[in-house]
Order: sequence, then C-alpha cells, then structure tokens
Amino acid sequence: MNTRFTWVGSRPSVDFTATVGKREQAPFERMQEPADLARWFREAGLTHDEVPVSRRTYRQAVQLREALYRLFTGATRPADLDVVNQWSTRPLAGPRLTPDRRVATALTDVPELLSRLARDAVDLVTGPLAERIRVCASDDCSLLFVDTSRPGQRRWCSMNTCGARAKMATYRAPD
Ligand SMILES: [Zn+2]
Repeated sequence: MNTRFTWVGSRPSVDFTATVGKREQAPFERMQEPADLARWFREAGLTHDEVPVSRRTYRQAVQLREALYRLFTGATRPADLDVVNQWSTRPLAGPRLTPDRRVATALTDVPELLSRLARDAVDLVTGPLAERIRVCASDDCSLLFVDTSRPGQRRWCSMNTCGARAKMATYRAPD
C-alpha cells in the first residue's frame, strides 16, 4: 500500500523532510523503498517521468533528507554540510530551447533531482524566509513548514488538519 506524502512545507526541500512522519513522537518512514522516492519526485512536480532509482541513489536521498532536516532545525553537523554541498554544487543541465520556442523535456535522473532539492535548501536558509522555518505546534505532529504568511504567525503545518484540531480542543476545553 502506498503511504501518502504530505505537502505543507511550501518548499520541495522542506516537504522532502516530511517523508518521515511524526519525527518527534513516533517516527515512521513514508519512503520505504526506491519506488516511493520515484513517486515522491513525481508528486512533488519535480519530474513527469518515472525516474529509475537504484538502492544506492535511494540511500543517498535518505542521507540528504536527514541532513536537510538537521539543517532546517538548527542541528546541523559538519558532515551534513558536506552532504548538502556535495549535491548543491553538482552541475545541472540548463533548459534546452526547441525550434518552436518551448523548453525540451530533459531527461532527469535522481542525482539531478537531489541537486535541485539541495539548491532549494541552500536558497531557503540563506534567504529572507530562513527565519520562517517552523515545526508544527501540534503535540501530535512535527512537520516542518515555511511560514510564508505576511504576519508570520502561522503555528500549524496546516489549518485543515492540526490547526483545526487545536481550535476544536480550545473550543471544547473552557478554562
Ligand atoms: Zn501539523
């Protein structure tokens, strides 16, 4: 059975860390095998193709994911920077223009997709939204998200799930 992925992070690199659920409570793996990684890339909109994922590239993806999680939560180890930089500095093919002025669909592979995720993360932590990377305030959830709201006071990964539950709890428990 396919485990559903979550898309509340507002950045692909942040959503990638959510392929482990309930990290602070009872962690579970949403990306159990290489085929799940291929599906994640498609559902994330990073590729339209079914990219082949080897055991090795799957392990590399998991390693990058954990480095990104620690990067976003301020727990970075020196080795994590090496992992992120290894991917972020990897050369990427640029867009190729066709005679009818469209961008040719480039063949993508896992290393290229990991490079895009690492670049997204570097861009995020060095940009104006770096201070807006948050952990969901729900006791039962520890998804990361980037608060892109203007006031910057978002507390929950999603108003439809954790936010709604918190509101219900407040409503039910008058004090
Ligand atoms: Zn949440």
